[in-house]
Amino acid sequence: MQPFVYQALSQRIVFGSGTLARVGEELDRLAVKRALVLSTAGHAMAAERLAAALGQRAAGVFAGAVMHTPVEVTDEALAAVGTARADALVVLGGGSTIGLGKAIALRTDLPQIAIPTTYAGSEATPVLGETANGRKTTQRSPKILPEVVLYDVDLTLTLPVGVSVTSGMNAIAHAIEARYAEHRNPLISLLALDAIRALAGALPAIHANPGDRGARSDALYGAWACGTCLGAVGMALHHKLCHVLGGSFGLPHAATHTVMLPHATAYNESVARAELRPVADLLGAPTAAEGLYALERRLAAPLTLRELGMPESGLDRAADAAMADPYWNPRPLDRERLRQLLADAYAGRPPRLD
Ligand code: NAD
Repeated sequence: MQPFVYQALSQRIVFGSGTLARVGEELDRLAVKRALVLSTAGHAMAAERLAAALGQRAAGVFAGAVMHTPVEVTDEALAAVGTARADALVVLGGGSTIGLGKAIALRTDLPQIAIPTTYAGSEATPVLGETANGRKTTQRSPKILPEVVLYDVDLTLTLPVGVSVTSGMNAIAHAIEARYAEHRNPLISLLALDAIRALAGALPAIHANPGDRGARSDALYGAWACGTCLGAVGMALHHKLCHVLGGSFGLPHAATHTVMLPHATAYNESVARAELRPVADLLGAPTAAEGLYALERRLAAPLTLRELGMPESGLDRAADAAMADPYWNPRPLDRERLRQLLADAYAGRPPRLD
């Protein structure tokens, strides 16, 4: 066994079906009295229903969450927290809403109950990405990690197939990079593999039948496990590329992860063969990268940066940005090879193994 250091995170997880009915109980456990419910505008009705069900324990609803956590929205939400004299946050939605809850918690240390409705996995990490003056930066703090995560499979049944697929691949990306992470450890490596197994099995079933509760339940478990990997170990090239493409070109988060994953995996697989071999085996492919690409084709997932709105003229800038601010990666970064990788992803060619 290689030496390792593992910092476990403290978080309570409630997982199941119909668990939304247990939010009140969880608020009582935290000994809070007036929770502000957060959502996007699209989830406002569901947030209002939840607030009504919480009765006296709800201090109101703020339904203004948007993607990439702009600080202006956080400021508005902080004013709503003050007006409502809220002493806790109940965060209902995908990564965008969970980002808002985290941004408020960072500034107030209010306790959070996160109720994720996508597979992004943000709820399991002490990491916040937020945007100020058109620039997205990330930070880590124990204040950011939600105290409680309540997973309710029922809430995911409405997630459209296309979003389920890209969100699920976004989750798998956390587990792939956890397998070869700099500070990996045996527990997280094992969890990463089981997370990929769960999602790779569930996504085709959801694609065939979005109402398949068993598959939805497996996918949500996989999302939790992938998010736990993301919260526990550092990420590498794949996440950096997606951060660059999302931040500099405004590409959609989960779909960008989907397009880039086979290519970034292929880049690192030449030096991380042993770590990715079990992934290739469970995907039934010669390499993990080929297995991921085949899975995405089967799921009719987006395969090109072009279809996400990436300008071809931006590929050089993206390659330069991916080389800037050095970060750890198992394989040294090579500007020309990254440029080629981005061109392959732009055109949707199969991943290049070298
Ligand atoms: P999202 O929260 O924007 O949701 C995607 C879309 O799905 C939205 O239109 C939303 O309204 C809709 N939706 C969500 N749940 C639904 C449901 N159950 N039924 C029907 N529609 C539903 O996107 P996301 O991919 O979940 O999150 C992306 C954001 O999360 C990005 O800002 C990303 O940076 C952040 N993120 C952060 C971390 C972290 O650890 N800090 C990890 C992953 C993602």
